[in-house]
Amino acid sequence: MTARILDGRAIAMAMRSALAGRVATLPFVPGLVVVLVGDDAASAVYVRNKDRAAAGAGIFARTVRLPTAMSEAELLSCIAGLNDDAAVDGILVQLPLPAHIRVGVIVAAIDPAKDVDGFHPLNVGRLAEGTPFLAPCTPTGVMRLLAAANVVAAGARAVVLGRSAIVGRPMAALLLAADATVTIAHSRTRNLAAECRRAEILVAAVGRAQMVRGDWVADGATVIDVGINRLADGTLAGDVAFGECLPHAGAITPVPGGVGPMTIACLLENTVTAAIARRN
Ligand code: NDP
Repeated sequence: MTARILDGRAIAMAMRSALAGRVATLPFVPGLVVVLVGDDAASAVYVRNKDRAAAGAGIFARTVRLPTAMSEAELLSCIAGLNDDAAVDGILVQLPLPAHIRVGVIVAAIDPAKDVDGFHPLNVGRLAEGTPFLAPCTPTGVMRLLAAANVVAAGARAVVLGRSAIVGRPMAALLLAADATVTIAHSRTRNLAAECRRAEILVAAVGRAQMVRGDWVADGATVIDVGINRLADGTLAGDVAFGECLPHAGAITPVPGGVGPMTIACLLENTVTAAIARRN
């Protein structure tokens, strides 16, 4: 068997163009503000891509660039201003933040109604209780990929590899909300390969290049690779050994061109969801 390759770029493009159609019918322009602290090169590229994608969907996006040396109090005051600004529907603070600024304090200061990253404790709680409102973009993107590929989560055995607050945990919560039977595996899991082999849906989010080998994948399983790892030669690799898994999987995402584009599409969708909820 050779796996179906799930084209995240094409699926995300279709989502973005459907979203642009929806935004065109709104009596207002949704507003998204990305807060970028410091000069992390990867973050700067990511933020530029977000700005471009937002404009294409009819969303007014702007980036607030702040110096690395700014204090936590100054950043909190910037966020308070954005919370109070009626034209701003979505606020995203680009991570990572400089070490002297506590991420938890900053995330908790964002108005939960504008929390398009879905990291505020209130939105995390909503997801945990099975009634998500603004859910984190990457795991939401994975769910949208599964749906677009006609992979049914309900009743399926799903294994999520990784338990971070940004990807693994919300991923597991979304799969559970979709009625999958979910296992979360992590660095203390015994016999990772055996756990993965039980999966009908395997989501890898570990940040270790090509860790998931061909013999970790059950015949016909859907393999979703969230990982983005830069190799010594400068190329990108996922957490899945793509070539090895291809003959086993039923469907698989490439890196790049799989989950990555879905994350941005879901951010735009969250912005529109937040805008409609706030303005109605
Ligand atoms: P984190 O480093 O925060 O979490 C990694 C998780 O993987 C942890 O739960 C850790 O376990 C687990 N893990 C690490 N090493 C092993 C191992 N050897 N065996 C088993 N489990 C292990 O990473 P993120 O969740 O933030 O990101 C994961 C990957 O996804 C990265 O490559 C990142 O770049 C990518 N990413 C991609 C996005 C996209 O848009 N496509 C968006 C966000 C992230 P433990 O908890 O026990 O330490």
